[in-house]
Amino acid sequence: MSDVPSRLAENLDQLRRRIEAAAAASGRPAGAVTLVAATKYVSAEIARQIAVAGCLDLAESRPQELWSKGAALADLPIRWHLIGHLQRNKIRRTLPLVTLLHSIDSARLLAALNDEACALGRRVDVLLEVNISGEAAKHGFQPAEVERQLSACVELAQVRVRGLMGMARLEGGPAEAERDFASLRALRDRLARNIPAAVSLAELSMGMSGDFEAAVRQGATLVRIGSALTEGIESAADSQ
Ligand SMILES: *Cc1c(COP(=O)(O)O)cnc(C)c1O
Repeated sequence: MSDVPSRLAENLDQLRRRIEAAAAASGRPAGAVTLVAATKYVSAEIARQIAVAGCLDLAESRPQELWSKGAALADLPIRWHLIGHLQRNKIRRTLPLVTLLHSIDSARLLAALNDEACALGRRVDVLLEVNISGEAAKHGFQPAEVERQLSACVELAQVRVRGLMGMARLEGGPAEAERDFASLRALRDRLARNIPAAVSLAELSMGMSGDFEAAVRQGATLVRIGSALTEGIESAADSQ
């Protein structure tokens, strides 16, 4: 496995440089952007190496996978992010493990999260997912619904909204992706002028391996990167 740590360190270093350059282009320090490593393509052992390499924000898109990696890596101070759809019947096992839920996409889910957080005596930090591209296959609130959801969240004492999450349209090229990110940021900026005090829209989770630089230029504070980080890694591990 001697290959894996050096390959990971190299990939992380390159990604951090690219993030830093894109952040500078938007007049922000590199520290304004958190690299969240999407570990869904790799084993718990590789996820461990990513954390050991210094990237302690890890993300899974499926709750069951987050539970199993969370248990396997419980000895490390990892901040787990859920970046995929959460069914209500998976809330109870997921909540104690996660730092931030990125993909909250319904009022029913918000209410159920609030109930469960009450029962656990804790608060839960969430991002509201917005369907910026308007594609039917995408999860998320319609942009026009977000304002009403933010007002409704004030009633949910255990839920803390920290910002918005979105994805660029699947079919578009880099220019369309950048436009999608710009529109999420514009929505955030518009809503932020008039939001309840209990709500924050400071975080913008947008950008993946193929488009994170555009997202950072447009104001992303969290980028979710999987394949570009673990490129060449599983094969290096397999060949040992
Ligand atoms: C898998 C995933 C990512 C990371 O995708 P890559 O293209 O591999 O970087 C980001 N966001 C979500 C919601 C994902 O499911």
